[in-house]
Amino acid sequence: MDELISKLKKLVSVSDKIVAFTGAGFSADSGISTFRGAGGLWSKYDPSIYADINYFIQDPSYYWNFFKDERYPTIKKAQPNDGHYALVELEKRGKIYRIITQNIDGLHQLAGSSDVIELHGNTRKIFCMSCNKNYSMNETYNILKRELPPRCSCGGILKPGTVLFGEPLPQAALDMANITAKNCDMFLVLGSSLVVYPAASLPAIAKKNDAVLVIVNIDPTPLDNIADIVINENVSKVLSKLISH
Ligand SMILES: [Zn+2]
Repeated sequence: MDELISKLKKLVSVSDKIVAFTGAGFSADSGISTFRGAGGLWSKYDPSIYADINYFIQDPSYYWNFFKDERYPTIKKAQPNDGHYALVELEKRGKIYRIITQNIDGLHQLAGSSDVIELHGNTRKIFCMSCNKNYSMNETYNILKRELPPRCSCGGILKPGTVLFGEPLPQAALDMANITAKNCDMFLVLGSSLVVYPAASLPAIAKKNDAVLVIVNIDPTPLDNIADIVINENVSKVLSKLISH
């Protein structure tokens, strides 16, 4: 792995428009379990009931129970890991200019990264479906203790700021992600298995526009064959080595 990291260091040294693309594997070291696969959250909570927009509209209490018992305690105690701080450091050094994330935990912003595109929304940003008023996770949790589903002061039902199954991705974020992929000089995939749209297409867009493509993921991905460097290791360990002198 050290040889690959040396190669990556050299490429980073001549890049100044790096985009980091982060997925579930990136937040795993912060204690946030992945959704898919064995032991993933969706093996415990059927997403067609707990995280589907049509089901949510019929009966939002399933999602909000899931939030109360699972999401809220997990996200509330989660802290940014070495990988998050390494990206902040790379931003300070003028290397990384933007992060595109599939994660919904808001940990990049908490660590101090300034430019983050959230493709799947953010668990921390809850809003009223009637008047659009915003609620924090703590406020929502307090309302949840007394009423299910939680309601706004106007009587409207609260909705999570995450993209549920059956909902389109936020168009503005998607547009920005596409533009970013076209204009970067390095597209750095970090902890994403690159199987769901648009994760599966953004690296190829970057590559087609002459960016260097680097994939760091514990498991192989379907786009490894077009990458310039593939490192199948723990992401935060790789990034810690990358920023060390
Ligand atoms: Zn309201």
